[in-house]
Amino acid sequence: MSDIQFFGHIIDGEEVESLDGARFDVWNPWTQEVFAQAAEAGAADAARAVESSRRAFEEGPWPRMGRAERAAAIHRLADLMEERADDLARLDSTNMGKPFAQAKHDVGRSVWNFRFFADHQRDHVGEVYPMDSGHHSYSEFGPAGVVAAISPWNFPLMMATWKIAPAIAWGNTCIIKPSEDTPASVTLLGRLAIEAGFPPGVLNVLNGHGAPAGAALTADERVDRVTFTGSSTTGKAVMASAATHLAPVSLELGGKGANLVFDDADLDNAVHWAVEAIFRNSGQICLAGSRLFVQSGVHDEFMDRFRAAAEALVIGDPFDPATRFSVLASRRHFEKVRGYVESVEEQGGKVLTGGVDEDGAWLVRPTIVTDLPLTAPQYCEEIFGPVCVVNRFETEDDVVALANDTRYGLNAMVFTENLSRAHRVSSRLRAGTVWVNCFFIRDLRTPFGGVGDSGVGREGGNFSREFFTEPKAVVMQIDRG
Ligand code: NDP
Repeated sequence: MSDIQFFGHIIDGEEVESLDGARFDVWNPWTQEVFAQAAEAGAADAARAVESSRRAFEEGPWPRMGRAERAAAIHRLADLMEERADDLARLDSTNMGKPFAQAKHDVGRSVWNFRFFADHQRDHVGEVYPMDSGHHSYSEFGPAGVVAAISPWNFPLMMATWKIAPAIAWGNTCIIKPSEDTPASVTLLGRLAIEAGFPPGVLNVLNGHGAPAGAALTADERVDRVTFTGSSTTGKAVMASAATHLAPVSLELGGKGANLVFDDADLDNAVHWAVEAIFRNSGQICLAGSRLFVQSGVHDEFMDRFRAAAEALVIGDPFDPATRFSVLASRRHFEKVRGYVESVEEQGGKVLTGGVDEDGAWLVRPTIVTDLPLTAPQYCEEIFGPVCVVNRFETEDDVVALANDTRYGLNAMVFTENLSRAHRVSSRLRAGTVWVNCFFIRDLRTPFGGVGDSGVGREGGNFSREFFTEPKAVVMQIDRG
């Protein structure tokens, strides 16, 4: 254990141990070995991080500097991330088992998160409204203050940057707490922020568990905004905690995405995206297409092709370039997914292909399930693994009703070559995002978030601006008439 890596907290421009020296083990789920240790925050470390970010906000240059200067600093960080892209990707692959090529893709999107919001805050400064009454009014978007961001383990770097980038771009200071399972890449990001010359306290990284570290952040009344991605259950606890000091929250929570394949779909395209939607990242995606509905006319042909494509995915070491699919992110998560898969038959369903690996790896193979009743937990609950539950449907009305019959509402996919149907069905689906003939493509200007148990609020473009700023109205008399 002597040459093991260490990931400290990044607080006030320095990498530090916890005040009491506590650490926790960081695992590689492919080798099932501890590859690093991280500092484990207690409430006192959380308070220290908040204190630092509060000071940086009240007294430091960040909220006061010009927009162009702030954008330049953020682009400098993005440049460093590009230089260290392999290292960032290597940490995510090592820490959660994601194939390296997918981790590299995530780094590219993380860099873009920073570049996009650096420019967005320069170009979307406010709005002016000439008034009929001899006045004009304008809006101003000032920073909100200290942002607490809590991010999950499925896209460790990408989900963290999706929160950090708009927060700091709009002049706030930010404390990010990555999941205890995946502290590595976000800590490297914090080191790069120091290298990029960020003033102390603008970006603090606090490593540790949801409780006490995350809970201490959300409960701290010096925190002005809380942004969280994770499970719906924890999201409710986060919201209740932030409510004690009236901090607005943005919650991106679970999903049970419906994937609708109509008779007139381009089947090559539909199969390609159905595979991506449920097996990319081993299904550990809140946006996963975990409920697949196939219209009767193409059902059998689609299922033959979908099954063949699932079975063709190369499973293996995340660092083998041929690997498309690998292990689940942790033993705890593997046990959860295993429970769902092993009880399919007892719920009346059939495992068409896939199942749990019997060789001791934390691996669930790409799994397709049919014949489950619509009340089965596998159909209703978020499994967050490579398990696709398939149903056949007859009419558009039927499938819209099925797709909407869930307490979640994050996203849905529609595969059809009929333009009118594409628009009509998209409009009827109760979901924050609908992808037509594709999946996972994002335009950062558009709203991102979910309905029902999938979350509260939207982020992206001007939606992020609303959340991470305190909008102000200024009304000026220009004509005393
Ligand atoms: P959680 O929702 O428990 O954790 C997400 C983040 O919140 C982590 O950083 C966690 O820290 C932190 N956290 C936990 N409790 C608190 C708290 N009381 N106050 C503040 N922060 C807290 O998700 P899990 O990682 O346990 O995964 C469980 C399930 O959640 C998955 O199986 C999946 O269904 C869903 N999930 C959904 C995600 C999404 O993208 N929507 C992402 C991840 C999970 P720590 O890791 O230290 O507990």
